[in-house]
Amino acid sequence: VKLHRPLVVANWKMNIPEGGLSDFVASCSSNSESRPGKDIEVWIAPPFPYLSPLRAEISAFGFDAEVGAQNCSDQKTGALTGEVSAEMVSDQGAVFVILGHSERRTLFGETDALIARKITAVGMAQLVPLVCVGEDLESRERGLTAQVVTRQLRECLGPARDRFGSLVIAYEPLWAIGTGRNASAAVVVEVNQVIRKVLRDFGEESSRVLYGGSVTPENAADLARAGGADGFLIGGASLDPSKFMGICAALSPHPASPVEKS
Ligand code: PEP
Repeated sequence: VKLHRPLVVANWKMNIPEGGLSDFVASCSSNSESRPGKDIEVWIAPPFPYLSPLRAEISAFGFDAEVGAQNCSDQKTGALTGEVSAEMVSDQGAVFVILGHSERRTLFGETDALIARKITAVGMAQLVPLVCVGEDLESRERGLTAQVVTRQLRECLGPARDRFGSLVIAYEPLWAIGTGRNASAAVVVEVNQVIRKVLRDFGEESSRVLYGGSVTPENAADLARAGGADGFLIGGASLDPSKFMGICAALSPHPASPVEKS
């Protein structure tokens, strides 16, 4: 039984300047053929300073979406130059925080232990942690995917146990992020089973499990039909409102009929 609507999450990374926020939301809102509506849940993660301005644009256009951060500190407060706490992003209207994205892991040295502390901080601020896991190409070629993903999940969730009211996991194989090479539907289904097994061990079976990695409007329907994921985490294609809405439309269980479209 599906407990939730499919979830589509935009990770803008360090893209889209302040001047582009209004145009982005306006284009999404005017795209009535694929407007998410009640069938799809949409979350957008802009850079920190735009959480509040993006939220204002979303309400101005009556668009149905939540905002969240791409990262936050594991600490509540202190002499931590450049850091932003979970409470601070919550104050700006965020409802979720992406944690453990592969760019944070590889470019900024984040470990599973740090991600675990961030999950706790996010949960204590009543925000939803969206935790990314995924294997690199070498691990995939050596047949270690299940082992890597299971270890990441256990190390990220173990110490944070009982600290989250709600949790979203994104399976993002590193070889598929920003490469134009998406995982096949069969791989998404297979790895989701691995993730679901770990979530069951943690009593978190109602968590949503997303797929991320070169999702486009063209491949989204196939990935959605295979039924392995509860939605997508989108990087590159989330910067283009028509591609982003196209992905939402592909996930919609009730695509607009030709009559509704006209
Ligand atoms: C990502 O970075 O989370 C991601 C999925 O990127 P892309 O969609 O560009 O592969």
